[in-house]
Amino acid sequence: MKKILAILLALVLVLSFAACASTAETTNEDSNAQTNETADTTETGDTDASAEDTDAAAEDAGAATEETTDAAFTTVEEGKLHMSTNAAFPPYEMVADGEGFEGTGYEGIDVEIAYAIAQKLGLELVVDDMDFTAALEAAQSGKCDMVMAGVTVNEDRLAVMDFSDSYATGVQVVIVTEDSPIATLDDIEGKLIGTQKGTTGFTYASYPPEEGGYGEDAVIGFDNGLSAVQALKNGQVDCVIIDNAPAQSFVAENPGLKILDTEWVTEDYAIGVAKGNTALLDAINGALAELIADGTVQSIIDTYITAE
Ligand code: GLN
Repeated sequence: MKKILAILLALVLVLSFAACASTAETTNEDSNAQTNETADTTETGDTDASAEDTDAAAEDAGAATEETTDAAFTTVEEGKLHMSTNAAFPPYEMVADGEGFEGTGYEGIDVEIAYAIAQKLGLELVVDDMDFTAALEAAQSGKCDMVMAGVTVNEDRLAVMDFSDSYATGVQVVIVTEDSPIATLDDIEGKLIGTQKGTTGFTYASYPPEEGGYGEDAVIGFDNGLSAVQALKNGQVDCVIIDNAPAQSFVAENPGLKILDTEWVTEDYAIGVAKGNTALLDAINGALAELIADGTVQSIIDTYITAE
């Protein structure tokens, strides 16, 4: 009887342990290759499923990740974590009036999350502000450690860079003037659309109508969202397609504009790193998972975006 119980107990432990390992795997799914390393570390030599081992594993799958990655990852500049961004995307990243968040000179959701990640990794956050396209390229080419700029994960980008787990959601929306004849997505046909160059809004709006867009000729790409909004106010474009959070900020600051009550595309935001830099990506994912689990990420988001 005792033996049967012992076997059953061992089985339960093995199963609960397997669940842990697979959690780690799911978390890191997007970064594929490196996942195995983390999973292997956890799985190796644990077939006897002693209570001690299992507890240790169950206690903190994240600790295993940290151990694996801490030793392995390097950053562009020793002791620092360089984040490329386009600080004209409120409330995710803005140039601060004064010192900014923790003296970074910048503020916003991405800045605060990046700062918290840097802290967990024992690094000093450095924000490098540039055009959105340049910000993507800086991480892609390894000039910066990571890009955080309300970056949407999509197939085109996954082909050239790796992404962390998602930490927020964005929705592409349409801004029009209050007296606009545009009331639905269909009304945009034949109209001029302002977007920010290099963004998913720009790309998807430029697709031919068969693919759900309005065609290249209908789309003008501006250097940043605010320039697109100014063009809308000046009558140079008929609407602006942009992510919902900055759309709300721009509309709040520019009377006479409104957001259409229609959502175009919903997207996941994540942190981008150079393709193959799995050591850094795992470290970022480990830190991010902890910050999501303990509510830090949500509370940062709530500071900047108040629920309606
Ligand atoms: N989420 C959009 C994208 O990734 C816009 C990001 C931005 O303008 N900073 O393309």
